[in-house]
Amino acid sequence: MEKKTSQFKAEIAEMLDLVVNSLYSKKEIFLRELISNASDAIDRAKYLGLTDKDLVADNPAWGIEIAVDKTAKTMMISDNGIGMDAADLEKNLGTIASSGTKAFRQALKEKGGEALPELIGQFGVGFYAAFMVADKVRVVTRKRGGAAAFQWESDMAGGYTIADAERAEPGTSIMLHLREGQEEYLDYWRVQDLVKKYSDFIAYPVTFRTVDVPADEKDEDRKRREEREAKPLNTMVALWKRAKKDVKPEEYEEFYKHFTHDYDGPFETIPFSGEGAVEFKALLFLPKKATMELFMPQQKRGLSLYVRNVFIGDDIEMLLPSWLRFVKGVVDSSDLPLNVSREMLQDDAVIAKIKSAVTSKILSTLEDLKKKGERYDEFFGAFGAVLKEGVHTDWEHADRIKKLLKYPTARSDAGKRVFLKDYVKDMAADQKDIYYICAEREEDARKAPQLEAARRHGCDVLLFCDPVDEYLTESLREFEGKKFVDIAKGDVQFGSEAEQKAEKEANEKAAGELKPFLEAVKKELESKVSDVRVSTRLTDSPCCLVAKEYALPPSMVRMMRAMKQEVPDEKRILEVNAAHPLVRKLATLTGAELSDAVALLYDAALIAEGSPVTDGARFTKLLSALMLK
Ligand code: ADP
Repeated sequence: MEKKTSQFKAEIAEMLDLVVNSLYSKKEIFLRELISNASDAIDRAKYLGLTDKDLVADNPAWGIEIAVDKTAKTMMISDNGIGMDAADLEKNLGTIASSGTKAFRQALKEKGGEALPELIGQFGVGFYAAFMVADKVRVVTRKRGGAAAFQWESDMAGGYTIADAERAEPGTSIMLHLREGQEEYLDYWRVQDLVKKYSDFIAYPVTFRTVDVPADEKDEDRKRREEREAKPLNTMVALWKRAKKDVKPEEYEEFYKHFTHDYDGPFETIPFSGEGAVEFKALLFLPKKATMELFMPQQKRGLSLYVRNVFIGDDIEMLLPSWLRFVKGVVDSSDLPLNVSREMLQDDAVIAKIKSAVTSKILSTLEDLKKKGERYDEFFGAFGAVLKEGVHTDWEHADRIKKLLKYPTARSDAGKRVFLKDYVKDMAADQKDIYYICAEREEDARKAPQLEAARRHGCDVLLFCDPVDEYLTESLREFEGKKFVDIAKGDVQFGSEAEQKAEKEANEKAAGELKPFLEAVKKELESKVSDVRVSTRLTDSPCCLVAKEYALPPSMVRMMRAMKQEVPDEKRILEVNAAHPLVRKLATLTGAELSDAVALLYDAALIAEGSPVTDGARFTKLLSALMLK
């Protein structure tokens, strides 16, 4: 044929401009695109060879070669795949809308071909990524089944030419003449890195060859070079594509270590595939330990995404809800275009479906793990605090998450946690609500005076001691129809209705008797508490401090203040135990004696809940004076 020069259609010229200047932030991905095209071409040749033996009469050893010439500044990516004729070249590399691959897939679908090979590339732009690093691209290709070879050549600005060419074997070679400043791609180690990073799991060997071997190369250098060039750059194993039963646990473990740099190995390995609405394979891991970064906002999170074995990106956070950010792993989908960008993933329907399937799978894995007692406790000890966030942020899964939560309780041994379901099962006969108390440390919570009445009435109390627990109380709302009630807040009464009634009457009577005392104490502590009243919560302790029912949790107040927001000091209520001999005795005091005693009483309430006393010096002085008496 005669050499024919054509201009790119306007939309290609425009697209090329986009590709070169902005489409991909990382120029290095051109190699991934070209290797994918080559792998794709081999897939097609293999597939067509199944029914047309002539196409594969040369019995090819399928493979992809990267041949580099540092002197000429060229890189050539060759494959022995399907190849192209002049018409294919015109159609595939001269227009974008009709991507050859797309047409091929369409044809296969119409034939009802079940063995549809996994073809890479749905949008016809990958090839042009070559121009990001090359100022001139030449394609020499020979279609399987034909004898003629053709070449396509372009420097972008001058359009492209198609002409006759020579090629001994069927297949395609893409020769790039690298732009000024892109010489890094001529280096073996850089190329090896890129292949490992993006194309490690391509199913055909990708090899490297030095074209311009120096005439004076030393023997030992030649030996070393030949040795490394004899081996493929890629490992060719996509672990997530293999059936679980065919993969040894060590293989998963090795992959996990390589992938996460967490040399402890995984706690749990979860290979699974999505079927139905979206097709994908996933290989997920639960790590053994939490890292500090889990609670840092800038921490990288998310799963790695592959599209048909080709690496798209890691830390794709759209694949996981944030309360599962400790999960690591890979998702490989054939329902996404290869050139999908992060921005596109943001509201991609396929991604949303994968996220939902992944979430569900992890939840069901945890539900299974729950049956394994101690093993679950190990997991929950490491990641329970992150999991809990889901109750607050993911209403869709909140109910399933709640069932996975465990808390220490007033009755449980230190370090042991109880599922909400078990708490509810063991509730006292006349108990209507789920009781909890918040404290910064479990030891403090266990000693809280507010627990006394609950204990007396046979009610257990959940101890909320994770920093996140306090925020969660709003979102927890109810479990199995039972409300969550903070026993350190508002008016809480335990026991049967009759008991409550009797208690109320006794309280009113006591309040009447103690009225002058309560008023005197209130006056003394005017600046510190909003009210002083008789308590229903106490048995052994003389007093305690309680918040009003709708008060902000102290942890929230601390956070708001850290963010420089004005939060007025919310005064709490001092509750006294009317039956306590100390209270009865104090009620007989007056003047300075009463003043000092009330100051001590207030400090005692602070100490009991693990809070610091307001004036340590005064406290010590009062205490010494008291002991001397
Ligand atoms: P796509 O996303 O379709 O791969 P590209 O721009 O990368 O888009 O390539 C356009 C078309 O060129 C491909 O669909 C394919 O038909 C053809 N092509 C590209 N590289 C090769 C190759 N190495 N061998 C055979 N055909 C190729």
